[in-house]
Amino acid sequence: MNATGFSPKSATTGDVDWEKIRADFPILKLKIDGKPLVYFDNAASSQMPQQIIDRLVRYQTAEHANINRAVHYLSEIATMEFHRARCKLQQFVNAEEDREIIFTSGTTDAINLVMHGYGRKFIKAGDEIILTTLEHHSNIVPWQMLASEKGAKIRVVPINDKGELEIDEYEKLFNERTKFVGLIHVSNALGTINPIKRMIDFAHRYSVPVLIDGAQAAPHLTIDVQAQDGDFYVFSAHKLCGPTGVGMLYGKATLLEAMQPFKGGGDMIASVTFEKTIYNTIPHKFEAGTPPIAAAIGFGAAIDYLTAIGIERIAAYENTLLDYATACLNEIPGVKIIGTAAEKTAVISFTIDGIHPHDIGTILNQDGIAVRTGHHCAQPVMQRFNIPATSRASFAFYNKKSEVDTLVAGIKTVQKVFL
Ligand code: PLP
Repeated sequence: MNATGFSPKSATTGDVDWEKIRADFPILKLKIDGKPLVYFDNAASSQMPQQIIDRLVRYQTAEHANINRAVHYLSEIATMEFHRARCKLQQFVNAEEDREIIFTSGTTDAINLVMHGYGRKFIKAGDEIILTTLEHHSNIVPWQMLASEKGAKIRVVPINDKGELEIDEYEKLFNERTKFVGLIHVSNALGTINPIKRMIDFAHRYSVPVLIDGAQAAPHLTIDVQAQDGDFYVFSAHKLCGPTGVGMLYGKATLLEAMQPFKGGGDMIASVTFEKTIYNTIPHKFEAGTPPIAAAIGFGAAIDYLTAIGIERIAAYENTLLDYATACLNEIPGVKIIGTAAEKTAVISFTIDGIHPHDIGTILNQDGIAVRTGHHCAQPVMQRFNIPATSRASFAFYNKKSEVDTLVAGIKTVQKVFL
């Protein structure tokens, strides 16, 4: 359940023609070694429908120029379309103002921006930063770098055996030294949906700002940054059917204004002399150099595509796949699902007794099935469950039940080969 009261379990799929939607994705027609591709690596990167590919082609063939720098036709079109993409993102996350949306190169870049812009300015020796066991490395390593530079301390919220955060322990970590919280909205390794509204409200009692890593939430949950009241919210386009190389940072305007720039260069300045540079206003202060114009416009098209279907309908449909796959995998002896939170997105991490996840991935690939194997850039989660790695099947709205059946058959083949 998030701040909008929305949970994948409470939504309905409506009357969407999911087969027709699937047909929008040319890559899904691929065969791998003669077998139809079954793409279950959506949590790493989702696929792109023809509509967004066409939008990128239209930009490159009829609209491309650098932005903000010239009065000629193409530059004006590109500048306007780039701005429109920002406004689409503003609406998508329900930010109050478009200047609160900063284009970054992705989630990792956005978190690093906050670490440099906010953390290096405001975090001091002895301060404490709260993170959770569920964090992706992208929301651990930048804060560790900051902590070691400043002499600050990282405190970590534990998880239970289902992969849910222990909220009582989170609340106990707060004290007068707590200065920042970094919190993953949805775990990429396990699918757990965290109660971010409750956690943000608690942090705000101590006047502590909260950064939400929404990389795995934005494709599946309705985001409302005003209702949730988090201070920063970040995600990447490539997990939302958009291009790689672009992502966004939402930040409350007052915080963004107080922060120092992360990168220096063109466009982030109001004026430059050798004696002094005066920085531009937000969002430009954080967008040094030529931004990923094409990718940002593709990002905007991806937002249009997903909102036309409806995030709640997407989540409800994916949830039917999750329930079906969970039931099927639970019936296979030797298969163990890691991450059984009550509130989950459509991610199944699993192990098979006696078989290394990389071997599982290799054999499944021979059947055309793409799953991710490894630590999923969440080694603390693996350490918590005392395992080196898992295999992870992550579903999107263009997947179908018959593909889950193919996965189940594939897992049985893996067991035949190795056991
Ligand atoms: N945070 C989470 C929860 C993720 O799942 C990912 C990517 O898998 C990232 C951060 C990093 O995203 P990117 O590689 O697009 O910067």
